[in-house]
This record gives sequence, structure tokens and C-alpha cells, in this order.
Amino acid sequence: MSFIEIDNVTRRYEKGVIALDRVSLEIKEGEWLAIMGPSGSGKTTLLNLLGGLDLADEGRVRVDGLDLARMARPDLIRYRRERVGLVFQQFHLIPYLNAVENVMLAQYLHSMAEEGEAAQALERVGLGHRLRHLPSQMSGGEKQRVCIARALINRPKLILADEPTGSLDAENERAVLDLFAQIHASGQAIVMVTHDLVVGRRATRQIQLEHGRVAGEFLTLQQDEEAIDEVLEYLWLKMEGDAAAHEICAVGARLATPQLLERMLARGILQPGQGLEFSGEGRRRAESLIRRHRLAETLFSETFQMHETVVEEEACFFEHILSPVMTDSICGFLNHPPACPHGKPIPRGTCCAGRSASAR
Ligand code: ADP
Ligand code: MG
Repeated sequence: MSFIEIDNVTRRYEKGVIALDRVSLEIKEGEWLAIMGPSGSGKTTLLNLLGGLDLADEGRVRVDGLDLARMARPDLIRYRRERVGLVFQQFHLIPYLNAVENVMLAQYLHSMAEEGEAAQALERVGLGHRLRHLPSQMSGGEKQRVCIARALINRPKLILADEPTGSLDAENERAVLDLFAQIHASGQAIVMVTHDLVVGRRATRQIQLEHGRVAGEFLTLQQDEEAIDEVLEYLWLKMEGDAAAHEICAVGARLATPQLLERMLARGILQPGQGLEFSGEGRRRAESLIRRHRLAETLFSETFQMHETVVEEEACFFEHILSPVMTDSICGFLNHPPACPHGKPIPRGTCCAGRSASAR
């Protein structure tokens, strides 16, 4: 039996809204799952069912052998208190209690943790120096870490997080996700809701909800390839010595997490070396990606006279989808340009063989 079994679950609201439509899903012990999907797709509803905060109209939700739909209310409360830790986007901290007190008041007044235990949990999330601070005296990132400390009380086997980084800037987002990575490494399962691809990427598995249904994990395969492309592009700019690579390829830089880099190593796209090195295959893939991007930029900007901001956006889209034939056609149409509008070299393609690079 899996740690979590969601079997054919439907949740309806009034006025015919079907928030979840026959959803089935299994989650293993210690897994870090990201539930992704657009706003209104049922993510929060699903999380609430797992947390025992809401009940399904049809189907079954089992967590750690407990059938949540068949539990009496006091048992559900005990389940919530002892087996799960909840983290929300809006922190739900009590404004007039300090960090330690907020953590002691773990999970909706249902259990009182000891002060020492609370302080320990805060130390674990790097807030040992903020024990007596009120929520109003802490940054968003610190507040979210207090919430995580609160969720860690009782060492629940399951952490549920709803858009945990939704209110945070990139730096705090990374800090919170690093904490989740530690929690995951210590064997606790995490189910994390997010609509953000970069955040979802940190989990070990992602599923996509659409209109209350699991739209599948196959979608994320393509997303995975795009994420790899983003990182390759970022690494290419760094290799070219572009000091602003971080800003230009912000998404790629943020996606370059240890997890993704490890997958790229395992797939032979990168090779171990000093720092990060392309393998032969990785280099070819990065080169043709950069080629597509810069050719698209040149076409959109010089031939179509499109505005600079649109050019960049469109090039970032087209670089993933241009076929080799189309790419070579554009290259030929532009007479094999040696550089993009920003003056950066466009990698040569087979179609450029025998052409003078400065023919334009
Ligand atoms: P998400 O978290 O993916 O944005 P939700 O699970 O919050 O989506 O909502 C799924 C659907 O159910 C939406 O159409 C939303 O409007 C509806 N819904 C959510 N909660 C309620 C509620 N308490 N009453 C009525 N409709 C609701
Ligand atoms: Mg939601």
C-alpha cells in the first residue's frame, strides 16, 4: 500500500462547481510531490482533503493507512495535529505572539508544544536569533520559516504546503525551498502546491491539475526538456563570459538547482569536471539552442522590425520549437548572419558550410 492513496475522488461545491473530478493518485512515503496547475484547477481543494480540512463527496483518501472520509471528527483533529504539518502562502501567524509562541501554538491551538521544542524547530529553520520577534518585526521569508518550524513540530510524516513561496522574492523562495529539500532528505513526505514551474522543479515529482483532473505527468516531460534548455542557455552565456548571464537568463539561473544539474549529469548532457562542463552532446544541444534563439532574434528584429521587448520574449518561445529545417531556412533567408542584433556570435549550422560568414 502506498503512503497516500487518492482513489477516484470528486469534490463538488454549490452551483455545480466540480473542484475535483475523479482524481486518483498515489504518493510514496518520503516523496516530494509538486501539484501544479493554473489557478482554479483544484490544487488547494486536493491539499485540504489530504490535510483532513475538507471531505470528499465521492471516492477515498487514505493517508498512512487511515481512511480520512470514514474518520470521526475528533479522530480527524488528532490526525491533523499528529500526522501532518501545514504551511500556507499567507502565513497565518498570530500577530501579538512572538516566533517561539507562534510555533508553540502549533496547528490551530490543537496542541501545545514545549518551549524548548519550539525553539529547536526555529533553530532548525535558521531562526535561532529571532525567537522573540513578533511577525511584524520579521521579513516575509522569516515569517514563512516560522510557519515551517510550526509545521515541523511533532515531526509529521507529511508536510502539506499551499503556494509556500507565493509571497516571497526569489532569494527567500530559494531559502524556503532549500529548507524543504532538507526536510525531504530527512525522510518526511512533502506535498506542495504551486503554479510556478521553477518552484515545482525542486520537487522530485510533479503532477499537473487542469479543471479538477490530473492532466498527467507526461506534460512535465516537455517542461523538463525546456528547463534543461533554459539551464543550457544560461551555462552557454556564462561560458561566453557574459557577466550578466544571471539577469539575462534569470529563469535558467534559478532552474540550475542541484537536482536538475544532477539529472543533466545522469543523462550525459553535462559531465563532471571543474565547475560545470557540457558533454559533447550537451554542447551540441546548447549550440543549436543558442543558434535558434539568435536567428529568431535577428529575424524578428531586422526583418519584422518588432519591438525589442517582444523580440526577446518571442525568441525565448521559438528557440524550443524551431525544427532544424526551419532553422536552416531562416539562416539562409538572412544570408547566414554571423551575429545577432546584440552582436553576439550565432553558432554556424551545416547550411552555413562554404558560405562566407560576412556575406551580409
Ligand atoms: P486552486 O487552488 O488550483 O486555485 P481551488 O482548489 O482553490 O483551486 O478551487 C477549485 C475550484 O473550486 C475553483 O473553481 C474555485 O472557485 C472552487 N471553489 C474552491 N473553494 C470553494 C468554496 N468554498 N465554495 C465554492 N467554490 C469553491
Ligand atoms: Mg489555491
